[in-house]
Amino acid sequence: MERQQILDLYEWDDGVCFRHPNRGTIPTACVKVLHPRGVGQHQVRACGDCVIGMEDIRREAAARAGSKYEPGHIGECDL
Ligand SMILES: [Zn+2]
Repeated sequence: MERQQILDLYEWDDGVCFRHPNRGTIPTACVKVLHPRGVGQHQVRACGDCVIGMEDIRREAAARAGSKYEPGHIGECDL
């Protein structure tokens, strides 16, 4: 699967990547919603490079486990 096809599975919005805060505000996808006590919610956002990296890890894990890999599901964001 091509990089762009994988990226198209996510919703992109301006934000700060959790691994690359020094890149500033860039297009990011929400990959997790944290619920710190008393602070409502905090979105963990990732840039394209990180999303692709996380998908690679999932694909390898699925291959090792003999299960089917389906991109587009790293997010735990029900927004
Ligand atoms: Zn990043």
